[in-house]
Amino acid sequence: MSDCIFCRIIAGQIPSTRVFEDEHTLAFMDLGQVNPGHVLIAVKKHAANLFELDDVQAAAVARASTRVARAIRDAFKPEGLSVYQANGKAAGQTVFHYHVHLLPRHEADGMELTWPVKNPPREILEGYAERIRKKFA
Ligand code: 5GP
Ligand code: ZN
Repeated sequence: MSDCIFCRIIAGQIPSTRVFEDEHTLAFMDLGQVNPGHVLIAVKKHAANLFELDDVQAAAVARASTRVARAIRDAFKPEGLSVYQANGKAAGQTVFHYHVHLLPRHEADGMELTWPVKNPPREILEGYAERIRKKFA
C-alpha cells in the first residue's frame, strides 16, 4: 500500500468527498475548507510536484481545474476564486503529490499571501529572462 495519502485517496483506500474525475485527474473536497467549496485537483498517476508532470497530465489538470472552477462559481457564487499550487516545502507544499487548490474567495476572508515586490530595474529583468530563455535553446 502506498504511503502517499493522495495516492491512497485516488485508489479508494481512504475516504474522500469527490466532485469530479476524468482519466488523469481526481477533484475532491479539501478537508481544511479555507472557504466553503475549497476543492483540490490531483493527478491520478503519482507526481510529487509540477516538475514531475508530463505534458498530458499538465493539460488534463488545466482542463479539469477550469471546469471545476466554473462549477464552484456556479454553486457558491463567490466574489472571486484563487488558484493556488505549491511545489516544495519552501513554497508551502505539505502533501507531496501534485495538486491544485481551487479556493472560493470573499473580501476580507482572512486568506493572505504576502508578496514582497522588489521592482528591479529593466537590466536586471533582462538578465533573469536570459537565464530562463537559455533553457529553451
Ligand atoms: P498543500 O499545503 O500541499 O498545498 O495542500 C495540502 C492540502 O491537503 C491541505 O489544504 C489539506 O487540508 C489537504 N489535505 C491533507 N490531508 C488530506 C486528506 O486526507 N483528505 C483531504 N481531502 N484533504 C487533505
Ligand atoms: Zn501520490
